[in-house]
Amino acid sequence: MKKTFDALNRALPHIQDLRAYVPGEQPQGTGWVKLNTNENPYPPSPKVGIAIAGELDSLRKYPEPTSAKLRAAIGARFGLAQANVIIGNGSDNILDLITRCFVSDPGAGHTVPSYSLYPVVAGMSGQALMDVNFDCLMQLDVAALAATQAKVFFLTNPNAPTGVPFALTEIEAALQAIDGLLVVDEAYVDFGGESAVSLLKDYENLVVVRTFSKSYSLAGMRVGFAIASSKIIALLDRVRDAYNLDCVAQAAALAAFEDVDYFAEQRSKVMATREATRAQLDGYGWFTYPSATNFLFTKPKNAAGESSAEVAASLFAHLKAQRVLVRYFPSHPLTCAFIRVSIGTDVEMKAFLTAVESWTNNA
Ligand code: PMP
Repeated sequence: MKKTFDALNRALPHIQDLRAYVPGEQPQGTGWVKLNTNENPYPPSPKVGIAIAGELDSLRKYPEPTSAKLRAAIGARFGLAQANVIIGNGSDNILDLITRCFVSDPGAGHTVPSYSLYPVVAGMSGQALMDVNFDCLMQLDVAALAATQAKVFFLTNPNAPTGVPFALTEIEAALQAIDGLLVVDEAYVDFGGESAVSLLKDYENLVVVRTFSKSYSLAGMRVGFAIASSKIIALLDRVRDAYNLDCVAQAAALAAFEDVDYFAEQRSKVMATREATRAQLDGYGWFTYPSATNFLFTKPKNAAGESSAEVAASLFAHLKAQRVLVRYFPSHPLTCAFIRVSIGTDVEMKAFLTAVESWTNNA
């Protein structure tokens, strides 16, 4: 006889209610101008390829479990010790480790809108996620943040999907006002934000999270890191998978991290293209938030000069039909009239703008 198992009802109650993270679309086939998931349009440092090739002989062995060389290099760069750094399988992995260690009643907190993985990691803990809502100025409300009494508060700086940076003085005010941990997610900070790393010496309730996915062009490799007090790092290490980073990823990230000249060059190119694209959008009379990231959050206007959710949805669909993929967040009043455009190469941005103009002319 066949045996059945009611998997959903046997799952833990909070897992029954959990909705998985929905990543941006990864289109198949060629010919796409892909500006929807904030990847870097340039390849990683040529030294990454050499480093990867050098790992072939190591593949039969388990990797060094702690990514020690990478921790040491990152620590040294920030004037800190290896014991202040942990490496994750992407920064998503780090956000999960932090949640597993520190989120208890009354739960975690985040700003809305921000990165949509926070509800998923909080949901996995079975604890609540408290919202601090932005208004259209996208300023940080430190008092509201503190009032949540969250055990862990996730703050993206510069913020996503808006690109708006918060000043270090605001981060410091939040650190003073809260009792829990402040996780400053600096996924995009290399493109113009102010890092909170300098605050670590005075605030033990701070964790700074970074990634190699954006500014180091290694999204496919899955490497992120956190910097915090050695006491916090030691706890995160307790819940980390023993071999959370394979040997190829460790070598690739180290090579990318050490090639500082290449890094600076690609980053400047992305920032210059961002400003040139922004100037074009300003020229159309569209409102675009100031961005310290590798994307722009802009409010399109149709030929009649109108902005709305319908207008943004129409542009998104038109661009997609032209094989230009951007990101559209329809479900929140502060995002539904906007599109988010990752910064590609100059050629890709020209294709984007040409497709926009063909929409404006026909809308
Ligand atoms: N934080 C934010 C704000 C992000 O936008 C992203 C990328 N989607 C991440 C973290 C995750 O980056 P990683 O690729 O390192 O997991």
